[in-house]
Amino acid sequence: MTPKNVPFGRDFVERLTDDHPTPFHIYDEAGIRATARDMASAFSWVPGGFRNYFAVKALPNPAIMQVVADEGMGFDCSSTAELTLCDYLETPGDLIMFTSNDTPLCEFAQAKELGAIINLDDYSHIDYLHEGIGMPRRICMRYNPGSLKEGNVIIGRPEEAKYGFTRDQIIEGYRRAAELGAQEFGLHTMVASNELNPDYFVETAALLFELAVEIREKTDVRIGFLNLGGGIGIPYRPDQDAVDLHYVSRGIRELYSQIIEPAGLDPMRIYMENGRCVTGPHGYLVTRVRHLKDTYKKYVGLDSSMANLMRPGMYGAYHHITVLGKEEAPATETYDVTGSLCENNDKFAIDRQLPRIDVDDYLVIHDTGAHGHSMGFNYNGKLRSAELLLREDGSVDLIRRAETLTDYFATLEIAELAAGRERAPVSSR
Ligand SMILES: *Cc1c(COP(=O)(O)O)cnc(C)c1O
Repeated sequence: MTPKNVPFGRDFVERLTDDHPTPFHIYDEAGIRATARDMASAFSWVPGGFRNYFAVKALPNPAIMQVVADEGMGFDCSSTAELTLCDYLETPGDLIMFTSNDTPLCEFAQAKELGAIINLDDYSHIDYLHEGIGMPRRICMRYNPGSLKEGNVIIGRPEEAKYGFTRDQIIEGYRRAAELGAQEFGLHTMVASNELNPDYFVETAALLFELAVEIREKTDVRIGFLNLGGGIGIPYRPDQDAVDLHYVSRGIRELYSQIIEPAGLDPMRIYMENGRCVTGPHGYLVTRVRHLKDTYKKYVGLDSSMANLMRPGMYGAYHHITVLGKEEAPATETYDVTGSLCENNDKFAIDRQLPRIDVDDYLVIHDTGAHGHSMGFNYNGKLRSAELLLREDGSVDLIRRAETLTDYFATLEIAELAAGRERAPVSSR
């Protein structure tokens, strides 16, 4: 069980909307820091050192990235834009993991220039990299265990996944990279997403530990770091439990002494690249009720839409909803909670039990701190919302303004007309 509390109430939001009209995502700095510290403390035993590279795609905002960096995390990137964010923050190369796929040479070049750890997705990329920009001194490779490991619903079965090298390819890959001058080597895998079973991550570590030993035996390469990937899930539903990182850590520690130490691979650095579990639970989409509708079902129409949060429409994902000011009211009604897109899966919740809702109520949609705003889109001419950061001292910073019509039309010649149509960003009601 996970209590679904909101770190602010209706009064706070009413005051906030004087300056920041709904909808907006608001992130809780204290919560993000607490999660980051818990992860660091769970893995503080790792002899070579532990680091989580925060997967930037979860919440690509420099203000959030700064908080995460303050807590000692690096960044996991997979595009020019994400690398550019790291460049902007002057992130040292050791703290950038470039885990991409189907990668153009210019992105490898940018990663190399920043001194990032390049994590290759395919055997053919070894020579592609070598011929294009030269083999870096340090290189990592992504393993796809195929039928050796079960995936889960979001990523699918590993054999069906587009990512990574086969076992034979990766062993040959280290030989080839060493031949081309690489001297420092890492091994990576990532085969699940939003996984809540803690044993899953222990099994993934076992898989990589054993492969590192096999690589040592079959080649001259000594793996210096293991990257267990991301994918730690979060309890979106109140009846789910968070992954106990200390349990995961104990399991991995035991395997370390059983596999890594006897093989002479100690000290080994252990990395992860979680995004969702770091920021996901600490983001909230605050939105206001625009209309109530009573037809074959009861509908609550919000001033936000799928453009602000895709996950329910795209994956049927559950996101908990709190009605501010009615936190203790009994959930006597059944509603579909919708946005305004001309798309019937634009629903935040279907048949959700909620307290009786009135027009102008504020709804808080939980767990939007990862793959929320960042997955947003402009279909139907919808504009993406602002992002706010609730600081530890209770103050609030605007860390991304809301999109405007001018932004939407910026790539067209009618941009000027659009500028004339721009209305002051008063409440979108
Ligand atoms: C998306 C992704 C992550 C982060 O996944 P989370 O579910 O946010 O932890 C890490 N590594 C790679 C390669 C990814 O594609």
